[in-house]
Amino acid sequence: MSDCLFCKIIAGEIPSEKVYEDDHVYAFKDITPVAPLHMLIIPKKHIATINDLESDDAETMGNLFLAAKKIAKHEGYDEAGYRTVMNCGEAAGQTVFHVHLHLLAGRDLSWPPG
Ligand code: 5GP
Ligand code: ZN
Repeated sequence: MSDCLFCKIIAGEIPSEKVYEDDHVYAFKDITPVAPLHMLIIPKKHIATINDLESDDAETMGNLFLAAKKIAKHEGYDEAGYRTVMNCGEAAGQTVFHVHLHLLAGRDLSWPPG
């Protein structure tokens, strides 16, 4: 999608600090980190929200979690623990409408979230 911020990041039209990429997934550092480790893991296919998922997207979405696992291990947080979050819609705090998995680690993460 030409007017999507994260599609522009995937295309390299907007710079990002890439931490992982494969055929289906792109991952980069969040510009406003809320934890010592804060990555965003996104599908290369534009999907606006969880509400827009089709059954064909199941593998794509699973790939986001496989990337999260790899990044967490590479960054040394696999044993200590980490959190993955995907906000859906404005009430949940979604501000960029290209689905993205937040990967957070490096501090105590309280529950329930705010
Ligand atoms: P949401 O609130 O939609 O779940 O998360 C969007 C995330 O994207 C936020 O954590 C925000 O800091 C991050 N973000 C917004 N614009 C940019 C950008 O241009 N570059 C990067 N790296 N992250 C961004
Ligand atoms: Zn997009």
